[in-house]
Amino acid sequence: MTTAASTIEVAGVSVDTRHWIGGQRVASADTFADVSPVDGRVLGQVSRGGQAEADAAVAAARAAFPGWARMGPTARGEILFRLADLVEAHIEELAQLETMDNGSLLRSHRRGVMPRVAMNIRFFADYAINQLSHPVFQTRGHDNHVSWDPSGVTVIITPWNAPLMLATWRIGPALASGDTVVLKPPEWAPLTASYFADLAHEAGLPAGVFNVVQGLGPEAGAPLTLNPQVSRICFTGSVPTAKVIAKAAAENLIPCSFELGGKSPTVILDDADLDLAVDLAIEQYDNAGQVCLAGTRLLVQRGIADAFTERFIERAAQIRQGDPRDEQTQIGPNIHLRHVERVQGFVDRAAADGASIAYGGSVNADLGPHYYRPTLIRDAQPGSEILTEEVFGPVLTMQVFDTDAEGLEVANGTEFGLAACVVTGDRARAEAFCEHLVAGTIWVNCFFVRDLAAPFGGSKKSGIGREGGIWSFDFYADVKNTVYAPNGWKE
Ligand code: NAD
Repeated sequence: MTTAASTIEVAGVSVDTRHWIGGQRVASADTFADVSPVDGRVLGQVSRGGQAEADAAVAAARAAFPGWARMGPTARGEILFRLADLVEAHIEELAQLETMDNGSLLRSHRRGVMPRVAMNIRFFADYAINQLSHPVFQTRGHDNHVSWDPSGVTVIITPWNAPLMLATWRIGPALASGDTVVLKPPEWAPLTASYFADLAHEAGLPAGVFNVVQGLGPEAGAPLTLNPQVSRICFTGSVPTAKVIAKAAAENLIPCSFELGGKSPTVILDDADLDLAVDLAIEQYDNAGQVCLAGTRLLVQRGIADAFTERFIERAAQIRQGDPRDEQTQIGPNIHLRHVERVQGFVDRAAADGASIAYGGSVNADLGPHYYRPTLIRDAQPGSEILTEEVFGPVLTMQVFDTDAEGLEVANGTEFGLAACVVTGDRARAEAFCEHLVAGTIWVNCFFVRDLAAPFGGSKKSGIGREGGIWSFDFYADVKNTVYAPNGWKE
């Protein structure tokens, strides 16, 4: 139900959809429609920012920077811990909003994603207070003191597949470092960012420390990346957009952290526990395939390929697709009709190119046009787009290999290198395989085990840089070394 041009109400939760700049709600003359993938309903209108709003947000963040930077990690931490507590107190509201906005499962938002949002804030605030240090070391009697200084204004641009989780994964360490932030949320799922701004205000973040500019990428995002007052740019999204942003950032030599797409392999060796292998392969359909880390290329060793395929298709047929608010649902809709068309295009072209559709291959018409069925494609042409480009839908491919060396070559055979999953019963074989796999994260006999202290990022076209633990602070802060001589001191 839409209550006013600047408010959207979802499941009894009301969100102010204007920008949040310098501690104030700011409206734009223009708005854009926010459509729910759950039922295709227009939820309401959101402020559509441009150059003026982007400039105002960066100016507000710049003005707030010296005060926030000088507070130090402990005083900042008090506010950030309050913010994490507030997120926890509002998990239900955030979960309801995110589910209607991007179609991901309500139960995942309640039990996994929104608790992780709180952790994103709390972990990095705590790290800045308790762990951010390096032992003093000596050079010819001189002491080297390493420190992490706040760097300025961080711009954060995020995608729609896990909007608030991905935003706070950057907001947490940026604010804990002493930087101020301007967030540009995804236009296909803008609501939780606006709600989060109210929580940040309630937690006591000073005006201008955290800002939200709503709008479309080229209109609201681009001017943020071109602003010389910005000191860091964090982008999570697709490779084509990353190229545009990298060029903009080069104009002012602004350091970027990019977390981009993937085409990750799930490698199943012939000594794998077949039940485990099938479980892990089925997991790759989570969030209707809209997961950057998804191991969408199933690479199966020949000895077990037939048994695996039979069991996999049996299990795929049991997946419950439906309304993401239903506790029983395992996968929900895809984000947008334009996105569904893109997914269908990949599948149609693969079929026209001689691949076989072993399962799925179309929209589930009973559920509505946003609900693409879990799909398995076999026998695609080596090197074809379905085997090399990111589909970002519930579409897996299967390739059969003979030797471990061949499996490794196929696994490494795309331009991406975000993640990989390897399933085998032999530890030594796993270690030999993983040594030469090119990926930011590898899971062996497991999937999606994530620790905020671990380095995270992509190799090759899957990203630039690593975040998590100390790696986050190394990016957001200006790392400084101060060398103290042993002499020259007055008694
Ligand atoms: P996208 O690149 O289309 O958009 C991402 C964001 O960039 C949006 O907020 C958009 O408005 C903004 N944007 C678009 N053009 C811009 C411009 N010229 N200047 C500044 N901002 C601009 O990506 P998407 O479709 O929203 O997200 C899907 C992609 O994100 C997939 O490729 C997926 O793999 C990737 N992703 C990566 C990770 C990771 O951690 N590596 C996590 C989630 C998603």
